[in-house]
Amino acid sequence: ARRITALLCNTWCSPSSSFSSSSMPTTKLFINGKFVDSKTTKWVDIHNPATNETIGRVPEATQDEMEAAVSSCKQSFKVWAETSILSRQQIFLRYQQLIKDNLKEIAKIITLEQGKTLADAEGDVFRGLQVVEHACSVTSLMLGETLPSVTKDMDTYTFRLPLGVCAGIAPFNFPAMIPLWMFPMAMVCGNTFLMKPSERVPGATMFLAKLLQDSGAPDGTLNIIHGQHAAVKFICDHPDIKAISFVGSNQAGEYIYERGSISGKRVQSNMGAKNHGVVMPDANKENTLNQLVGAAFGAAGQRCMALSTAILVGNARGWLPELIERAKKLRVNAGDQPGADLGPLISAGAKKRVCDLVESGVKEGAELVLDGRSVRVKGYENGNFVGPTILTKVKPNMTCYKEEVFGPVLVVLETETLAEAIEIVNRNPYGNGTAIFTTNGATARKYCHLVDVGQVGVNVPIPVPLPMFSFTGSRASFRGDTNFYGKQGVQFYTQLKTITSQWNEEDATMTSPAVVMPT
Ligand code: NAD
Repeated sequence: ARRITALLCNTWCSPSSSFSSSSMPTTKLFINGKFVDSKTTKWVDIHNPATNETIGRVPEATQDEMEAAVSSCKQSFKVWAETSILSRQQIFLRYQQLIKDNLKEIAKIITLEQGKTLADAEGDVFRGLQVVEHACSVTSLMLGETLPSVTKDMDTYTFRLPLGVCAGIAPFNFPAMIPLWMFPMAMVCGNTFLMKPSERVPGATMFLAKLLQDSGAPDGTLNIIHGQHAAVKFICDHPDIKAISFVGSNQAGEYIYERGSISGKRVQSNMGAKNHGVVMPDANKENTLNQLVGAAFGAAGQRCMALSTAILVGNARGWLPELIERAKKLRVNAGDQPGADLGPLISAGAKKRVCDLVESGVKEGAELVLDGRSVRVKGYENGNFVGPTILTKVKPNMTCYKEEVFGPVLVVLETETLAEAIEIVNRNPYGNGTAIFTTNGATARKYCHLVDVGQVGVNVPIPVPLPMFSFTGSRASFRGDTNFYGKQGVQFYTQLKTITSQWNEEDATMTSPAVVMPT
């Protein structure tokens, strides 16, 4: 308990709030450069998923607190947008160094609140850090366009300018990476930002806010509120918020996309997934099975790019026994225990949902060839653990195929040909990611060309692009028209202003009004 309190009680978290009767560490709000206790009466408990112990509480910010946060963003925008781009860049150059210096500490908080293994939590921070590094090239990313001499003595040029106050709403599964997809890109472009982290894992965002402050970001440029539905509605409706970045489930994402759009905001909404790994019989077997097992069960399957569905094509159907053997060898343990391959699910509710979906598969005719539902982890008997689970003979009409399971469960389908596999993938409503495993270039090319999915890997199981590209999930996995990070991210957080100017050397004066449309 002392170790937990030491991890959580910091600038952004007090051992016990003066406004609460509990002695639980209490997450603060970050308003106008100050970490402040909320005056709310509504709290959400934070659990350690490995033990189900309550380790802290997060406030549902009051209306006044949320208003204060937006107002702080709005005020600071006036100065921040006029701050030179080189000064903004310098702050983010310092920020990326501070994240590197504190990477392991942030990872420990992620493991405590979210459950993933420490190595995986470090990867979570690292992938976010890469977006910050990318944001540091803002001086190139924000370049506009020019066209001289569009007519006599007339030049046209565009500026990319910030929008104003932007907001972010994040999920629980990447407590560092996903907030880092949002506020650094928005802020380096000159926007100010209101962040609402997942109420289940607020610690990493709070740590990252402190580091940003230490990097020199002026007070009010980043504000953080906490909460659930009321906070989300507030963000969707507030007239001073110009754009919303959302990552999470379809249920929330579609609602936020619609509600935010109705009130005139730009919204980018990254949502759920069902990612297929197509295994061709000519694939490198050893490599493919290891990739598949890692991508299906890593992070306990709680990645939006988890390879949760395998399609074994032709003779690759015979590889099933070896796939099962490899999955069995993974070690399930608390994320901070040495050697753990996968940790617990985020909550007891998530565990029940995953187990129910597995049961539905059995009832609907699938074969449960590896059942991790009754796994017991010594010393962590109350944790939300599920071991690697494999369902075979799965058909596209089964619930376990149609729903995103978001747990360490691999559903396996079989086809005779690549064409049948492509048809299955394209009929699935989601389009987040997919991978093909093959040693044949023509097969790989055909798959990439015909498959209707936003991110495709060839012998790469989790093809999340590096941040100089963008995260390009498609179909039911995305709403909006401009993706996260990369050039698209800059486009999302900026608007264009186009100037057309005419300068004559001899200061020509018109002799009569020009009433005809200029051509
Ligand atoms: P979630 O939708 O439950 O929560 C995300 C955020 O929305 C949280 O901040 C939460 O407070 C808020 N929220 C939750 N329910 C809401 C509702 N009904 N109305 C308004 N706001 C609501 O998602 P999660 O469980 O935290 O994350 C898992 C989901 O996120 C999975 O579906 C996963 O695929 C998806 N995800 C997608 C990507 C991607 O880039 N496509 C990345 C990571 C996670």
